Amino acid sequence: MAERIDGKQVAADVRAKVAKAVSSLPGQPTLAVVLVGEDPASQVYVRNKVKQTEETGMRSLHHHLPADASQDEVEALISSLNDDAEVDGILLQLPLPKGLDEQRAIECIAPAKDVDGLTEASAGRLVLGKPGLRPCTPTGCVILAKSALGDDLSGRNVVVIGRSILVGKPAALLFLAENCTVTIAHSRTRDLEALCRTADILVPAVGRPQMVKGDWVKPGAVVIDVGINRIDAPERGEGKTRLVGDADFTECEPVAGHITPVPGGVGPMTIACLLRNTVIAACYRRGWDLPQGL
Ligand code: NAP
Repeated sequence: MAERIDGKQVAADVRAKVAKAVSSLPGQPTLAVVLVGEDPASQVYVRNKVKQTEETGMRSLHHHLPADASQDEVEALISSLNDDAEVDGILLQLPLPKGLDEQRAIECIAPAKDVDGLTEASAGRLVLGKPGLRPCTPTGCVILAKSALGDDLSGRNVVVIGRSILVGKPAALLFLAENCTVTIAHSRTRDLEALCRTADILVPAVGRPQMVKGDWVKPGAVVIDVGINRIDAPERGEGKTRLVGDADFTECEPVAGHITPVPGGVGPMTIACLLRNTVIAACYRRGWDLPQGL
């Protein structure tokens, strides 16, 4: 039976390291969060980001534009935050309201303040293996794999299912940077099940509920399930729903060596890695030494 990887606990450990790092710095890093519109889920995410930023001892600035803000207004706000010497990180909460060009807005963020790691400059640095700000959810996946297997992942076979810009591609590159042997699978991959069975670390990032079955998993493998899918749960009452991952947890748990639950696995890591990136951004930009152990 697999050991469950407790993402909440690992995320709390990352936040504790961030708080310790912050307390050792010569100044207080600042994260600016930009929310456009009234999407309720985004409002919850932003509240959590602000709260956790402050809990780690950093300063948080919250900018809220109305849903009918124009592209120029969004970009002007980002430019002013780029120019603000006090701001170390800029987080543009996605998705933006319909009609706004997300990619154009993201590209306005100064690469030095791109704590989501989503600009072309950050992606280029990742590909080139240069220091930079890495996307948060994929970074969380690597930290979770290390929490199961130890810091040295070299030589492990990793199969990432999914090739999105947000998760799959950067996750593959981050595992490659850890000297893993990485395969990226996607919707055109042939015999996905057999490929998955070669993985020491299997990372489904697809968005298809419970797609990965128990017999896709090599016995003892680590399953880092990125998927977050809401499905009907009539057993909980009429009209009720619940969250599941891309792996069928009930089937995979007896086969895997370690597995992340959904919720409570990869999900909590994203904000923790955002806070970590804010410290890294502050150190790079202000010329501070990066605290040990972050
Ligand atoms: P996405 O942009 O929709 O990408 C999905 C990927 O899965 C695509 O590359 C697609 O391949 C591939 N795919 C689709 N059907 C497939 C199949 N039958 N077999 C193999 N590959 C298949 O999704 P995303 O943004 O990467 O997100 C993936 C999941 O992660 C979602 O459930 C999302 O909610 C979750 N997520 C969680 C977090 C978090 O934990 N904090 C953060 C972000 C995302 P093609 O490229 O060939 O179409």
